[in-house]
Amino acid sequence: MPYIREIIHDGHPTLRKVAKKVDPKEIHDPLFQQLIDDMFETMYAAPGVGLAAPQVNVSKRLFVMDVQDDEHEPAVVINPKVELAQDEVEMTEGCLSVPGYVGEITRFDHVAITGLDRHGQKIRLEGRGLFAQCLQHEIDHLNGVLYVDRAKNVRIPETEEEQQIADAAQAEAS
Ligand code: ZN
Repeated sequence: MPYIREIIHDGHPTLRKVAKKVDPKEIHDPLFQQLIDDMFETMYAAPGVGLAAPQVNVSKRLFVMDVQDDEHEPAVVINPKVELAQDEVEMTEGCLSVPGYVGEITRFDHVAITGLDRHGQKIRLEGRGLFAQCLQHEIDHLNGVLYVDRAKNVRIPETEEEQQIADAAQAEAS
């Protein structure tokens, strides 16, 4: 049975480490599969649209996401590699590991990545907007980067929409 893991917050050293590449042989380990199930459970309970393994204090290159639109299925990405990033835009963003704040960050609106899924099969994900933002945000976590490092005007939410972003109620981002 999956269980909800504790999400660690900014200030915890694990969030600042460059996470280790996952050995493909490890993917089939029941403990690794349990970690994936737990990460989905934790993300949905938060609620958020993405969660990287370092946020549950596991320094491995793995994240889960579900932007809950008609176009994209829930995804597990292991050892992601960015293949395409274009069209810079400014986006409002929050993070489950920096609760209660939002800020403006420049990201790419169109991103494609490759990696492995939970069966160890090669996958490619491509998208725009929130989907692209979420991919970049989660990959940053694997590199020890938090959005507040680069964001402008990090603040306590001023509008209801910003509050939802900060609560990650609709998203890690919007
Ligand atoms: Zn985050």
